[in-house]
Amino acid sequence: MQARKVAIIGSGPAGYTAAIYAARADLAPTMFLGLQPGGQLTLTSDVENWPGEADGVLGPDLMEKLKKQAGRFGTTFVEDEIVAVDFSQRPFVLTQGKGGTVTADAVIIATGASARWLGIPGEKEFQGKGVSACATCDGFFFRDKKVVVVGGGDSAMEEATFLTKFAREVVVLVRSDKLRASKIMQERALKNPKISFMWFTEPKEVVGEGKVTGVKVVNSQTGEESLVSADGFFVAIGHEPNTKIFEGKVALDVKQYIMHAPDSSKTSVEGVFACGDVIDAHYRQAVTAAGSGCMAALEAERWLAVQE
Ligand code: NDP
Repeated sequence: MQARKVAIIGSGPAGYTAAIYAARADLAPTMFLGLQPGGQLTLTSDVENWPGEADGVLGPDLMEKLKKQAGRFGTTFVEDEIVAVDFSQRPFVLTQGKGGTVTADAVIIATGASARWLGIPGEKEFQGKGVSACATCDGFFFRDKKVVVVGGGDSAMEEATFLTKFAREVVVLVRSDKLRASKIMQERALKNPKISFMWFTEPKEVVGEGKVTGVKVVNSQTGEESLVSADGFFVAIGHEPNTKIFEGKVALDVKQYIMHAPDSSKTSVEGVFACGDVIDAHYRQAVTAAGSGCMAALEAERWLAVQE
């Protein structure tokens, strides 16, 4: 069993920022990159709101830069996920997906969040055959096709707008008459001639033969059902925190986000810190995640100093 001082679980903006700070504090952090190294930003295209990148930056490029920066100060990267944790003893014990365990004096959880699914018939069946939760990953396959996007938040507007690069027509299904997205993202989508909106509309079933051919929808005002023909179906209805392995190990809130002390990354277990989207159901921005990663590293450093 290998002994580490600080283990960071997850490699999004929160994890990398925690690694940069912990490494510069000479804590030689070990980062477990997880199944989606770089996190959600590797599934996005242009990031226009990362401070300092005046002309915008591609999500995957930004994550590569953060990784390089964290590596420069001595972060060890492990290409594996953590599948189980034991926080009942010190040092803490982490079990790796590829086998083996490591111990860590302090743990920083930065496992982020993942896309939510609707759970309607056909959604699972047609995944990879027209159903997707990532326009950046799959948009390319819908050149000159018609696609449906579900949701009214920033994700849905971003996906819909991105898809117009390829698709000839994008229909956005919104379950109310309001968009939750920020003004600028709304306006961009609303004035795009390739995008149309169906309000008060919920998808009931994804239909197709071998691949998606349409979506059965219902108007929640009138109860009227109809079939929208489509080659693609993109779900953009928010995210769930990646906390499965922490159930019963640290306190989670009702939405399964990790609970933390106010203005702090401290969890219910001393020596275990959490940062980024895994504690944040509200802002969920790369830059807020990065800020909270910095807090986690500083708090871990102080906590370790007190222990010593
Ligand atoms: P949000 O929670 O903001 O929005 C989810 C949307 O999906 C809402 O319109 C919601 O409808 C709808 N929805 C939820 N469940 C269902 C369902 N079962 N059926 C139909 N519709 C459903 O999530 P986002 O992922 O859009 O955004 C999360 C955060 O990330 C936000 O803070 C956002 O600002 C940020 N973000 C920023 C981006 C950027 O700045 N480039 C890009 C993407 C995200 P209702 O409103 O009725 O609840």
